[in-house]
Amino acid sequence: MQEQDTYYLNEICTQNALYTQQTGRKKKCLTHTFGCQMNERDSEILFGFLAQMGYEKTDIEAEADLVLFNTCCIREKAESKVLSHLGELKKLKQKNPDMIIGVCGCMMQQKGMADMIRSSAPYVDLIFGTHNLHHFPKYLYDVYQGKGRQIEVLDKEEGVQEGLPSYREYPFKALVNIVYGCNNFCTYCIVPYVRGRERSRKQADIVQEVKQLVADGVVEITLLGQNVNSYGLDLQDGTTFAGLLQELDQIEGLRRIRYMTSHPKDLTEELVKTIAESSKVVDHFHLPVQSGSSRVLDLMNRRYTKEHYLHLIDMIRKYMPDAAISTDIIVGFPGETEEDFLETIDLVQKVKFDSAFTFVYSKRTGTPAARMEDPTSLEEKKERLQRLNDALSDISRDINDKLQDTVVEVLVEGPSKTNEAMLSGRTTTNKTVIFAGEPSLIGQIVSVKITEAQTWILKGALAE
Ligand code: SF4
Repeated sequence: MQEQDTYYLNEICTQNALYTQQTGRKKKCLTHTFGCQMNERDSEILFGFLAQMGYEKTDIEAEADLVLFNTCCIREKAESKVLSHLGELKKLKQKNPDMIIGVCGCMMQQKGMADMIRSSAPYVDLIFGTHNLHHFPKYLYDVYQGKGRQIEVLDKEEGVQEGLPSYREYPFKALVNIVYGCNNFCTYCIVPYVRGRERSRKQADIVQEVKQLVADGVVEITLLGQNVNSYGLDLQDGTTFAGLLQELDQIEGLRRIRYMTSHPKDLTEELVKTIAESSKVVDHFHLPVQSGSSRVLDLMNRRYTKEHYLHLIDMIRKYMPDAAISTDIIVGFPGETEEDFLETIDLVQKVKFDSAFTFVYSKRTGTPAARMEDPTSLEEKKERLQRLNDALSDISRDINDKLQDTVVEVLVEGPSKTNEAMLSGRTTTNKTVIFAGEPSLIGQIVSVKITEAQTWILKGALAE
């Protein structure tokens, strides 16, 4: 953390302590996080700053002294959600003019977006982007000093920032950034434009962070990067993702290592072998294919073919026959024909994915795909999506049925979202298991016998 940021953080902390002394209440803050795990991790850092400044977390907007929107721009829907939510906050700010409202994250890095919010939402006090998140204490300090609205979005990344504070949502599992940005420029994706080029953290810094997390009680980590497989290449000192996994595998007390996202073009045999030989890296590959048509993959600039992807699946099955494989698929990419779509269905049938995130193509202004001819109607795209989802759920059900009566290891994550009386956890293959048990088991790895296999979840009972 930079010295000047520490200075502003301490200044606000002192002011907030004084405020508490005078009013008998602590200032409260609320962070709305949109988008992926990268953004979740950024919000942990933002709240880490806020906690050190003496803020308390609240879920109630009306009692918040500070509301931050950490935005996403992957889909237009997420953008419109933020804009309409901001409109609602305007009314709250009229009642409580001291409330501070901030907007940050990927959406602010998009051309013209910060200016749009600047002019259309004059009640927003803070606007900053992903590249300068670590200057948040300074911006907030300047607002408190009466310097007016603070708006700063940098065009270029400022390198890797270490030592930022963090508020971890769970005591037993943690997200760990390993590489920021992306060099791939898939034609449908806005990320490289808003998150900048790849910047890897030093291996020693990551290892140190994970050791500290484990000392604090964490048993499962998820390593984060837009493309974890190219981790280390920019450091040009021989650092690789496989090497990092080998090092992390040695950490005593750490039980599970997850990672995301893995780009097929950079998945090597060396890496698959490393994962197979590791005792802690989970037996789950999330390998986004996006399309089964090599023609569409070329239009997407994914830099692999259907055949290469199938070769990777064979390689995974060779070293880890029981590994679960999941994916992401975009249906209705501009120019996708029925024949192209049938190639996707064919690939899905060949790979037999455990699960998949499927989407109808969503146009992102500013990307090359947004300028491509797109003659297929939305109705037809939705119909293709339905056919794809039907195929995927049949396969998933078949795979899950085979788990009936087996005993699996589950990291208990908390109460089930659909039934608070039950516990929910995940297997190493990333399958959700629901079972009865005491809340004291949360955070532990337990053995569960599968009693009922469903398409997307498993139900079970604690094994004797
Ligand atoms: S790899 Fe492609 S899809 Fe993933 S973040 Fe980079 S450009 Fe976007």
